[in-house]
Amino acid sequence: MTILHTPAFSGWARGHLLCRVEGISGRFAITLDDGPNPVATGRVLEVLARHGARATFFMLGKSVRKHPALARRVVAEGHEAAVHGDSHWPLPLLLPGVIRRQVRRCGESIHHATGVPPRFYRPPFGIMTRGQSRFIRQIGYEPVLGDVYPEDPHNPGVDRIVSRVLERLEEGSILILHDGSPIGTPRRGQTIEALGIILEEATRRGWQGTTVGEIHPRPAA
Ligand SMILES: [Zn+2]
Repeated sequence: MTILHTPAFSGWARGHLLCRVEGISGRFAITLDDGPNPVATGRVLEVLARHGARATFFMLGKSVRKHPALARRVVAEGHEAAVHGDSHWPLPLLLPGVIRRQVRRCGESIHHATGVPPRFYRPPFGIMTRGQSRFIRQIGYEPVLGDVYPEDPHNPGVDRIVSRVLERLEEGSILILHDGSPIGTPRRGQTIEALGIILEEATRRGWQGTTVGEIHPRPAA
């Protein structure tokens, strides 16, 4: 099972990354990483629309510049665009100047394509140091991880993705899925099929899938 679900890692991450939101009833956040992708993102949007759900898409800057209309469509359909970096480089190996460029360039590409400045940031591979988290806040973004991750990019099977999610998903959860890939053409059929089943079960439980921004609004000024 993923390192995210081990108590040691999740305890460590919870100190400096948003993993879930307490005190939320009837809602959880859906997030999709590594897009926008011309094969998978449109199909994900269709599944979300069919179930009246919203999501936060953590996009790669280079993919946004390649597919700006797709990034625009994500936001036009009521979803939230967020920063995942310009390339998919692991943060702990990078110097602050490189991180700043990675994050800003991606953020500017999203703003340019969608007209909306992104608020949230998720580090590639879900890993960043405490100091890097402070740095990301200083340059204007809020770091987000999640608390439910079924390892969908490894294509473990639709049933396994669904059961890994449903045994952990709670109100206030942040679910991590993937609509893209940092390299090549991703196979995301399992993720897309699983998402539909997860949303049906969420409806049965009376829960609404939505954006990170909706379960974690900006503090009142
Ligand atoms: Zn990623």
